[in-house]
Amino acid sequence: MRVLVIGGGLTGLVAGERLAAAGLGAPVLEREGEPGGACRSIADAGYVFDYTGHLLHVGRPETEAYLEALGLWSQLAVWRRLAAVVVGGRATPYPIQINTHALAPEIRRDCLLGFIRAWAASPEREPASFRDWVDERFGEGLARHFFFPYNRKLYRAEPEELSLDWVGRYVPKPGLEEVVDGALGLHDAEVGYNALFRYPAEGGIRLLPDRVAAAVPGLRLGAEVVRLSLGEGWLELAGGERLPFDLAISTIALPAFLDLVVDPLPGEVAAARRALRWVRVLNIALGVRGPAPVPEHWRYFPDPELPFYRVGFPSNHGRLAPAGCHTVSVEVSLEPGVGDVAGEAARAEAALVAIGLLDPAAVEVRRLTMVDPAYVVFDHPRRPAVAALRSWLAEHGVRLAGRWAEWKYSAMEDAILDGMAAARRIVRELG
Ligand SMILES: Cc1cc2nc3c(=O)[nH]c(=O)nc-3n(C[C@H](O)[C@H](O)[C@H](O)COP(=O)(O)OP(=O)(O)OC[C@H]3O[C@@H](n4cnc5c(N)ncnc54)[C@H](O)[C@@H]3O)c2cc1C
Repeated sequence: MRVLVIGGGLTGLVAGERLAAAGLGAPVLEREGEPGGACRSIADAGYVFDYTGHLLHVGRPETEAYLEALGLWSQLAVWRRLAAVVVGGRATPYPIQINTHALAPEIRRDCLLGFIRAWAASPEREPASFRDWVDERFGEGLARHFFFPYNRKLYRAEPEELSLDWVGRYVPKPGLEEVVDGALGLHDAEVGYNALFRYPAEGGIRLLPDRVAAAVPGLRLGAEVVRLSLGEGWLELAGGERLPFDLAISTIALPAFLDLVVDPLPGEVAAARRALRWVRVLNIALGVRGPAPVPEHWRYFPDPELPFYRVGFPSNHGRLAPAGCHTVSVEVSLEPGVGDVAGEAARAEAALVAIGLLDPAAVEVRRLTMVDPAYVVFDHPRRPAVAALRSWLAEHGVRLAGRWAEWKYSAMEDAILDGMAAARRIVRELG
């Protein structure tokens, strides 16, 4: 059986490494000249920038064991999250639902009263959308000041368009006491899946994919898949080389994969492909003279007047800037397609200056990167569309693994686990 892995991001690298460890040396085809996909970093003039902010959250013992076996675990420093949400021009610790104490009194009142009203009401039906879920769980004030504007900006979708499929693990759900304590500044427990994170003690996040890549004998860089036939079982690389396969693990974005298929897509498959919706993220990385303007690792910005949804200060958690300098990572969510990227970046930078987080005269380095797709939009058609596509591709020998191949919301730890699971399934299938 001929097995191939498409994509040399974290998921594909781990799948390739695990297959090699099981004695199945599958080629891992990566179009770029370096591995790592979204987990890459750029070095420039003494600064190190990640493609976008990438902090590692490890919750499972098998991930720790894997990183340990790669000799990586001891090279990751542990940090206690320092993150804030900025509402009405004031910063309060994240997550806002249990930390409204630093907000303006009238906003705090809205959030607290709304939460208590929602808590006291007992809805008769299950929430049907993200809008209902937020209204019922957090109340009108938190919805209006944070959840709706923030998610509108991030997903470029209305809250009623979004399903609940993604919220479970990522949105902390507080009780009444926690919210009241949070409004009074009494809350000090750590909350959420990302209360602690790890990050390379030296250099950027690329250390992680680079270390896995070194253990993948079949990694082929500059190997872009440009066409593939599921009916005949081959794929073609830019340059014309054809590789036959019986089983392929695809880790590239699901719509991009389908667009490579030369066989005619059945009607329901083509319709499911058209239903997939996403946003891109433009990351504006800045190397700036002087100390960071705030101590946090990152800040969330729900304000619809500001173009960015999040601004990170990565040098607050890693040695990523020359002495006396700092780095800034500004994330702007954009619709897919082409657009005025330079204009968006300039607008974001001007807004950062306007709120006092950037001295334009101190900017030494500026790097723009685009992650596309970045966030899958969890709208209502997503789940049935992905199920249909996954099962059609499985019938044709294609196994999907990773955040964008499976069309979901997940993090680097999941990429590692997804890569491991995909390799395990292939080994099992091959008996
Ligand atoms: C804005 C943002 C912030 C994030 N922050 C965090 C964070 O703080 N912590 C965290 O844990 N996770 C974070 N993530 C998630 C993390 O980036 C992903 O979980 C992880 O990178 C997924 O890796 P992957 O290998 O599945 O996909 P990718 O990294 O996209 O890898 C796919 C690879 O396929 C290659 N490829 C594409 N097309 C072809 C082709 N035709 N032929 C050959 N190769 C091809 C690409 O070049 C790429 O290398 C973030 C994601 C985003 C968008």
